[in-house]
Amino acid sequence: MCWQQKGAITVNEPIFLSVIVPMYNEEEVIEVTYNRLRAVLQTIGESFEIVFVNDGSRDRTASIVRNICARDRTVKLVDFSRNFGHQIAVTAGMDHASGRVVVLIDADLQDPPELIADMVAKWREGYDVVYGKRIERKGESWFKKATAAMFYRLLRSMTSVNIPVDTGDFRLMDRKVCDALTQMRERSRFIRGMVSWAGFKQTSVEYVREERFAGETKYPLRKMVRLSLDAITSFSTKPLKIAGILGFVLSAVGFIYLLVVLFQHFFTNSTEPGWTSLIAISLLFNGITLSLLGVLGEYIGRIYEETKGRPLYLVSDKVNFPGEAQVTRQ
Ligand code: UDP
Ligand code: MG
Repeated sequence: MCWQQKGAITVNEPIFLSVIVPMYNEEEVIEVTYNRLRAVLQTIGESFEIVFVNDGSRDRTASIVRNICARDRTVKLVDFSRNFGHQIAVTAGMDHASGRVVVLIDADLQDPPELIADMVAKWREGYDVVYGKRIERKGESWFKKATAAMFYRLLRSMTSVNIPVDTGDFRLMDRKVCDALTQMRERSRFIRGMVSWAGFKQTSVEYVREERFAGETKYPLRKMVRLSLDAITSFSTKPLKIAGILGFVLSAVGFIYLLVVLFQHFFTNSTEPGWTSLIAISLLFNGITLSLLGVLGEYIGRIYEETKGRPLYLVSDKVNFPGEAQVTRQ
């Protein structure tokens, strides 16, 4: 327990383990997740806290967690003013966690809480980051698996940071890694990449990713594309370089073609009316130009977002944090 009576004063024993759980519309699973997490954490035999971050859920998630908070002081809630996205929710959890080690885990029990004990064991061996490596993904569509596999490999080929393939955010981090990450306030967040960038001693534990316990994925294609773009643009400028190279190659080809056409025009009689080829080339080149502009746009949009310097998230309420005004509204 983290609360102890010493004489008449209540003091806070330093917390060993913080578990961060981002939640978006997870009313069907959250109670079960809490029970399973608590059972595991108790077996570890160290003080712990569970930091639930409610990422603007529109269902009863927040009120269920509030009820848990009322009976269990080791459970804390950071309630967002709206949906800010998974990676930001995890960041908020890290901002609010005070443990010596910090664990990130999804709310849907796809990542087995039991693995936390193994992660802690690895940490005791001297590792600063222990990430879960998925050796199998159950109950996910072939589309999700195939796009995920492609994405990890694409990312690997594009970035100079060595981001391990087939790992999610399920991981344990030492306090110093957590502090390093919370100092990084960029808006386009890809936490796995940031952890790799930070370095330190890292290792993995393997696990089978289970099916979602209940409910459906909160990562529709739109959010997956966004995360992939964040990952690539935050860790690589290769798309810009590829755009440049492509532009150069195409200009060279265009120039050579121009010479050929001029030669044909002046020295042979074989110039064709060439309507079809003209249209085809014009469509092709316009398409390429527009998509390269799109690449630029992705970067410039992110630069613009950063320059606004807005906070990453807004908190509407916090529960069970010492020193905070305790709001007990349901
Ligand atoms: N999540 C979140 N905000 C969002 C989307 C998801 O906090 O906008 C949480 C969600 O509640 C879950 C975790 O992020 O705890 C992972 O989401 P999900 O399980 O839906 O993703 P998947 O496992 O399908 O990739
Ligand atoms: Mg999931």
